[in-house]
Amino acid sequence: MATKQSNQFEVPETMKAWVLGDPDELKQIEKPVPEPGDAEVLVRIDAIAVCATDLEILENGLPAMVEGENPFNKDFILGHEYMGTVVKQGPNVDEYDVGDRVTVEVHAGCGRCPRCREGMYTSCLNYGLRSKGHRANGFSTDGGFTEYAVNNINTLVHVPDDMSDEEATLVVTAGTAMYGLDVMGGLIAGEGVVITGPGPIGLMGVAVAKAMGAGPVILTGTRDNRLEMGKQLGADHVVNVRNEDAVEAIQRITGGKGVQYVLECSGAANAMNEAAKMVNRGGRICLAAFPSEPVPVDLAYLVRNNIYVFGIRGEGKSATHRAAAFMAQKRFDAKIIHTHTFGLDEVPTAIKYAKERIDDAIKVVVKMRDEEAA
Ligand SMILES: [Zn+2]
Ligand SMILES: [Zn+2]
Repeated sequence: MATKQSNQFEVPETMKAWVLGDPDELKQIEKPVPEPGDAEVLVRIDAIAVCATDLEILENGLPAMVEGENPFNKDFILGHEYMGTVVKQGPNVDEYDVGDRVTVEVHAGCGRCPRCREGMYTSCLNYGLRSKGHRANGFSTDGGFTEYAVNNINTLVHVPDDMSDEEATLVVTAGTAMYGLDVMGGLIAGEGVVITGPGPIGLMGVAVAKAMGAGPVILTGTRDNRLEMGKQLGADHVVNVRNEDAVEAIQRITGGKGVQYVLECSGAANAMNEAAKMVNRGGRICLAAFPSEPVPVDLAYLVRNNIYVFGIRGEGKSATHRAAAFMAQKRFDAKIIHTHTFGLDEVPTAIKYAKERIDDAIKVVVKMRDEEAA
């Protein structure tokens, strides 16, 4: 079967792309529109959200790597939280049709290593090896601050007609929170969950935990406006740790019992030790954020209390599909965390808003076209 492309979408030869120059430098260039290969489609990008990791890559390069090297001055396109429309199928692709609206996961594992076989494709042992089939768009292969991107069909999730482009960009964030709850055991209905840190993943963690039936769901943080959003997304209790000791607050709310699970999304230096005091014996902690420096941890406390600690990378085990299902069923309103929208020519401004949290920005979305013109 040859590469299929309907006349419905005319694909140009080149596209506008924001690429990484030197550290903290983004420049717009023209790049050739990529060709989808086996098991791949070409996605016309309709919207993309700015992620804190994009800001990190822009400044430090890591965690992005291009062919095993730092990604500066390699015409590398960053951005990974995008959605769009399938405009071209690679050879033998029939899983998605031209015209399908899709949102994407970041990681297409190689599909041939032991981790991929277990569904842990975000921990692929051939990470970064394009020759083995691995892709992590916006990390090791070109991402979404552009007009078109190639995606493996395994990274696609259908977007329902009544979900906006902006909301669809948030699916992968909700999927990351879902993956964190999955790795801790997943069966959280009726169990207490604390989410520490009301960033995008933390706020989606609240929403997903609530949708999965957890109770109580408790959110801790330092900014009242974000904690208020947490309430709208389903938090039973919120704690501003500027006003009250976080551990004491959890003990107060749970009548001294603690909770079964903590999803750590703050990256604060003391977060791990506090999480250990929030869970009860045998409790589970998932680290979805991390401090920028090594920090001391009271390991003896963890061992004596049989506390399990997990780390997650990205959105493995098809968690994105489960999060997308909750959003399609309108179990929570992810749109609450979308605060600002810019156009493709305004990517540096969009990034500035996200970085400096101008006007209380949380999720800043770049939208490629007006709805009417779509
Ligand atoms: Zn992200
Ligand atoms: Zn693999």
